[in-house]
Amino acid sequence: MILIDGKKAAADLREELKKEVLSLKDKFNKVPGLTVILIGDLAPSQIYVRNKEKSATEVGLKSEVIRYSDSVEESEVLKKIDELNNDDSVSGILVQLPLPKHIDKQKVIEAIMPEKDVDGFHPMNVGNLSSGYESSIPCTPLGCYLLIKKIEPNLNGKKAVIVGRSNLNGKPMTQLLLKENCTVTITHSKTNDLKGECLKGDIIVAAVGIPELVKGDWVKKDAIVIDVGINKTENGLVGDVAFDEVSKVAKALTPVPGGVGPMTIACLLKNTIECFKRANK
Ligand code: NAD
Repeated sequence: MILIDGKKAAADLREELKKEVLSLKDKFNKVPGLTVILIGDLAPSQIYVRNKEKSATEVGLKSEVIRYSDSVEESEVLKKIDELNNDDSVSGILVQLPLPKHIDKQKVIEAIMPEKDVDGFHPMNVGNLSSGYESSIPCTPLGCYLLIKKIEPNLNGKKAVIVGRSNLNGKPMTQLLLKENCTVTITHSKTNDLKGECLKGDIIVAAVGIPELVKGDWVKKDAIVIDVGINKTENGLVGDVAFDEVSKVAKALTPVPGGVGPMTIACLLKNTIECFKRANK
């Protein structure tokens, strides 16, 4: 079984991006800039943002974090986004989720101009992705896609089963695999016979949030299995896939941690660079 090393894949991608930033700097005499807005002091958000900032600086991007207390007015955040939309030194804007309850998440997402929406959450980018046009692609599914392509460059006609239909993961994952000519089934909490559906998959992507939901006897021999889940349990962090059982049947499997997670941030940097390139065509 191939243990898909997300840490190594992310480090390789960062190395590529670092070179690309250098050549962009040569060509345009400026570097792509990523601005993250962080509201409140939730510990996981603080950690994510710190990691994003560190990785962005490492590949040579201009990186900025704007922090607000969780009592900040929605209007102040929207005003700041408008300012960043009009700032040429900012290529990508990301507002770290979740937001405090008094701030309308959708309003914030839609305030970021699609050309700077490095998360790929703006409805314009969602629509472009599903129509097969150029767009920012949500970072986690993009990371999964790149890992799958490393194992199987030609996905023509493969049967892919996505478990979970979130806007963040399941739905964009479906679009990416459709574009690669996979036959895609998207399953969710109301799916009848989830095990039967999973068993048909040459590729399974699990993005649910239920510890070890996908069992060994749900997986076809030699399937590629990507585990997006991050679940805190008494036994530490586990994914949505029962790792020990599934590793006995799958051709390739991502571990948790160390699989999809590291690719997410690397893909955020990639998206920032793509936004810069589109803006400076
Ligand atoms: P979500 O809660 O938005 O969506 C979960 C989906 O799972 C829903 O579509 C729901 O229909 C489906 N579902 C729920 N119960 C089910 C069941 N019994 N059978 C089949 N489907 C079921 O979750 P999300 O934001 O997509 O996140 C999913 C998991 O991925 C979480 O564990 C989250 O922490 C993790 N995650 C990881 C990364 C990363 O970088 N590795 C990034 C984002 C999310």
